[in-house]
Amino acid sequence: NETSAAAAAAAAAVASGKSRSTMPLDYFIKNKLGVWCKSQNDQWELAKIKSTAGEEATVMIFNGNVIAKSTGELLPANPEILDGVDDLVELCYLNKPSVLHNLRYRYNRDVIYSKAGPVLLAFNPFKDVNIYGDDFVTAYKDKILDHPHVYAVADAAYNDMMRDGGNQSIIISGENGSGKTETAKYAMQYLASVGSQNDEMKCKLIKSSCILEAFGNAKTSRNCNSSRFGKLVDIHYNAEGTLTGASIQTYLLEKSRVSQICRGERSYHVFYQICAGAPPALKDMLNLKMSSEYKFLNQSGCLKINGIDDAQNYIMLVDAFDTLGISSQDQENVFQLLAAILWLGNISFAVTDQEEHVELVVDEASRSAARLMGCKMDELMVVLSTNKTHNMTEPLTLQQAADKRDALAASVYQSLFNWLVEEVSTSLKGDKQHTQHTISILDTCGFESLQKNSFQQLLINYADERLQQHFIRHLCKLEQEDYELEGIDWKKVMFEDNQECLDLFEKKPMGIISLLSEGSNSSKTEDDTFIDKIKRDLSYNTCFSCEKGAFRVRHYAREVQYDASGLLKQNRDTLQSDAIQLLSSCKKPLDRLSCGVMNQVQTTGQSVGAKFMDRLFKLIQQMENSKQHFIRCIKPNTKKVPGIYENDVVWEQLKCSQVMEIVQVSKSRYALCFTHQGFDSRFGCLLSKNSSCMDPLTASVAILKQHRIPTQMYQVGFTKLFFRGQVDVLENMRQVL
Ligand code: ATP
Ligand code: MG
Repeated sequence: NETSAAAAAAAAAVASGKSRSTMPLDYFIKNKLGVWCKSQNDQWELAKIKSTAGEEATVMIFNGNVIAKSTGELLPANPEILDGVDDLVELCYLNKPSVLHNLRYRYNRDVIYSKAGPVLLAFNPFKDVNIYGDDFVTAYKDKILDHPHVYAVADAAYNDMMRDGGNQSIIISGENGSGKTETAKYAMQYLASVGSQNDEMKCKLIKSSCILEAFGNAKTSRNCNSSRFGKLVDIHYNAEGTLTGASIQTYLLEKSRVSQICRGERSYHVFYQICAGAPPALKDMLNLKMSSEYKFLNQSGCLKINGIDDAQNYIMLVDAFDTLGISSQDQENVFQLLAAILWLGNISFAVTDQEEHVELVVDEASRSAARLMGCKMDELMVVLSTNKTHNMTEPLTLQQAADKRDALAASVYQSLFNWLVEEVSTSLKGDKQHTQHTISILDTCGFESLQKNSFQQLLINYADERLQQHFIRHLCKLEQEDYELEGIDWKKVMFEDNQECLDLFEKKPMGIISLLSEGSNSSKTEDDTFIDKIKRDLSYNTCFSCEKGAFRVRHYAREVQYDASGLLKQNRDTLQSDAIQLLSSCKKPLDRLSCGVMNQVQTTGQSVGAKFMDRLFKLIQQMENSKQHFIRCIKPNTKKVPGIYENDVVWEQLKCSQVMEIVQVSKSRYALCFTHQGFDSRFGCLLSKNSSCMDPLTASVAILKQHRIPTQMYQVGFTKLFFRGQVDVLENMRQVL
């Protein structure tokens, strides 16, 4: 029809990157096609061109106003018939207002999932959209529904695994609060259901999230349920595709949150859950008070989250523990340790001399902490008020003592967390022997830029930067490199590469991680000498700049300023030896957990940053060895409310994830590729001449020519043949032979 013919003609000019001024204006006028016209407040409005004179056009905007605009400020709008298409690849015109319009069109109708070529875009609806649950799982499984959905991605991963036999991974990325964790849970729900003949394992798998979130998620200023750790869940299947079990790995829990929280934020959910929900007998045993009584919790002025019932969630947590087979004795031990941590936070110190040396105040807090940790009161006193080095005991100042107390509390929490993850993994182990394939789901902490950014943000944002490169490499780079190497006619899509920023972190010895390790290993390096050093050593990198006591990194997402104070200490992460000794001497409930503390501290030959980088490389390696499925979560607004779609907020995220570039690559993608040899051995039988005396390239071309395959359908590379679509014609002939 005429509309789509006009659209196609113009699309060729515009989408292929030619300048806007080449837009065939006459065509738009004649066919009454819409254009996007930039308004005074920098938004794009839909309009129709009335007439043009030179560089100026008279346009009527949708509200009926007629205005004059420079033709350079107009962009083609897609015909209405394309409103709300499932995949951005289907748009004739790929420009900012058209993409934003398409996604908004869908979002306004509660259609939160869209495709951008191979990537699933998942908009956070901030409300229930009723598109999940068993009926939807079945509908996607049976292909009754095939619109973009996280279930469709999970289904594709499962089917690819069954067809090709290889491992799969689903990589979920996006900013803080964009919906990664929820998306990961829906993917897991689908994957647990689709391959399940084993309701027990399915139930365990689903409930494991409840435990991990209670201990690893917290309310932050951007998300009431923010993941403060990264996780990779590997779901195992046997050769028949039946769920056999799962395993979980976690990354980088933000342990500083145990003792320090910003205004309006909370510590880990589980603390509020036990305070609100533990039954009276347990509360008595743990001497557990209301959350407002504990300094670790009340310091931020925020104890409750709107719409969240901590007491109810306590019941859910215990139910999840029961389902995963965590014994009631172990559960009690876990709660006992949590109470010990809370009481540790209430321990206070009395200054004893002019140099501010302190001793520990013996009161309800210190007594309860010692009792719950299972250690002697006087031992706890000595450890928290003195430092032992080379058999010398020196008293601590108020600040040092408080720091040591907080470090002890954080360390106990970290080991408790590690222990729990192990327990959960053990419970999900299932039938390891028959495991054939794995589908992994990666859910990380999103990119963060806070008012004050420290070690945790530095590592989170570094990991995000690494994953971003992985994402772009797979969706833009590798394929284009292949086309270039093969010498085929291909219009290169330019994209941003973040290698320079990664170098800033990873280069040895002149990268942030290496320099941090070096600084942490030397007891002489202090925060200010460290900043001087990085200022000298890293100034070669254009993503880096220094300020007083801080430095800035230009990340792909945004520039972030990091506070240099405390970085070395957090990177060392050593608990003093007397504190370790204290923990290992503790009676129940720590005896099993203290092994965790010991391991954690003793194996720190490597700094936290260096260890994290190694684990991140291993993770990427695992992804590389699997078939990858990408989901990008998007926050439609920063207010965390339903129904509001903020163009700027959305565009910022689309731009950072280079969605336009990914769609452009997909638009001109060759769907199918054969080596000449492979093509010849599959279709050589269709040649009237014997192909055995031809070289593979000649044979390929001969097959294509003889069967008159239209040249726009394929391109011949040096070693490979690329096809736009399927080679049905040849396949059919081959079948008939
Ligand atoms: P962070 O990086 O902070 O961990 P995140 O990307 O994991 O953030 P989520 O915790 O998954 O974000 O989502 C934040 C909130 O948004 C959820 O608690 C939920 O209220 C809402 N939300 C996200 N996805 C959905 C969805 N598909 N349906 C309904 N609500 C959702
Ligand atoms: Mg999360």
